[in-house]
Amino acid sequence: MELKLYNTLTRQKEVFKSIDENKVRLYSCGPTVYYYAHIGNLRAYLFMDNLRRVLKYNGYELLHAMNITDVGHLESDADEGEDKMLKAAKRENKDPYEIAKFYTEKFMIDLNKLNISMPEIICKATEHIKEMEEYVQKIIENGYAYETKDTIYFDTSKLDKYGVLSNINAEEQKAGARVEFDSQKKNVTDFALWIKAPENHIMKWDTFWGKCYPGWHIECSAMGRKYLGEQFDIHTGGIDHIPIHHENEIAQSKGYSGKIPANWWMHCEFLLIDGGKMSKSLNNVYTIGDLENKGFSAMDYRMFNFTSHYRNKLNFTWDSLESAKIALSRLKEAYKKHANGEEHVSEETIDEYERKFHEAINDDLNMPQAMGVVWDVAKNLVKSKDFAKLLLKFDEVLGLKLDVEEKIDLPEEIQKIVDERELARKNKDWAKSDELRDILNEKGYTVKDTKDGMIVNLK
Ligand code: AMP
Ligand code: ZN
Repeated sequence: MELKLYNTLTRQKEVFKSIDENKVRLYSCGPTVYYYAHIGNLRAYLFMDNLRRVLKYNGYELLHAMNITDVGHLESDADEGEDKMLKAAKRENKDPYEIAKFYTEKFMIDLNKLNISMPEIICKATEHIKEMEEYVQKIIENGYAYETKDTIYFDTSKLDKYGVLSNINAEEQKAGARVEFDSQKKNVTDFALWIKAPENHIMKWDTFWGKCYPGWHIECSAMGRKYLGEQFDIHTGGIDHIPIHHENEIAQSKGYSGKIPANWWMHCEFLLIDGGKMSKSLNNVYTIGDLENKGFSAMDYRMFNFTSHYRNKLNFTWDSLESAKIALSRLKEAYKKHANGEEHVSEETIDEYERKFHEAINDDLNMPQAMGVVWDVAKNLVKSKDFAKLLLKFDEVLGLKLDVEEKIDLPEEIQKIVDERELARKNKDWAKSDELRDILNEKGYTVKDTKDGMIVNLK
């Protein structure tokens, strides 16, 4: 069946065709690990997971890379403001590397709780400074960069066109710029590739231009190229990446090889809270931990995300999360009834539902429509194992673990150990996993490992 995906580059839904037959190479812009991920950030990764699962449902093998931005970039995407990692280091009185390690681990735990399937490659910016350096040197060699006193800038005026994704021109950028741009820059859209580190800058490396650190955008270009090749199939990110970060990745790649790195560019819209923006001053920047403290699970939040298409804004309220929680529990209940059912359903009926579901997900991941089909099957008055089997097939895309028993509410201290053990198992650290199981046993809990994770109960 045809798979159609919206491409920000061409501004239309297009029939997807991979470069290599049966294999999709994709890249996702990952988190900046200077704080806990909020539920808005996590919407972007739920979208990434949804795309992975839909591609797999269509029979594709995946080679997927996601970066971890653990070298600071500035608060605004456009090289302004304070370095996020250094600001966090000051706030917590820690080394920026410790900050990165701590929040990377927390991020991985969140992904795990949300049942987000991991990209095949997770790459950290700090481990790819050499690749970035080489990339910048080639851009310089090709004549797309210039030096100022302390920065090497990409010269956007050397491109045939800058702004192919957002279709914005330099004059518009200038009019929209909030801050007077660095007077050393030749063009308002030029951006930093390589920056001389001031004496007190902690994250810096010995490079071809002295002690420096990279501009933000170069990490994705260098790592994308390293792991996926000069041109790959899909590049994903949040909608905020369109006007600067992704434009700059495209610019860098054109400066390096003359090519746009990915054929499809896909972007997830923002999550709103109570109809407005998330902000610290409104005290509404929620994390998975905040949801758990109010009695919700990460999986309730996953379910909530299926109520909207990824290209539409999604409005979070506690009431709508409550509805998603109830819906998830009803769906699991419905699955159980079918699994215990004895009635027979014809192959044609099953095929018809499967076709409708497949059509919905292949229409640019139309999850609200796909959920309509899921509910038609779940609520069917005929109770049949055939329907249960079909629901499990749908669950390859939904990732709701429909056949997994509900877990009991665990005290915070126990939950922490469980999260650590889930991560240890994911990392195949069996010794640590055994050690944590013993601790759970000692504290009075049984641990059962299933293909969908661990089930922990009171002894
Ligand atoms: P950051 O860690 O700040 O680089 O952001 C990580 C991801 O979260 C990026 O893909 C952003 O586009 C995305 N993002 C940030 N805020 C929101 C939001 N409110 N809704 C959806 N995605 C968001
Ligand atoms: Zn990126």
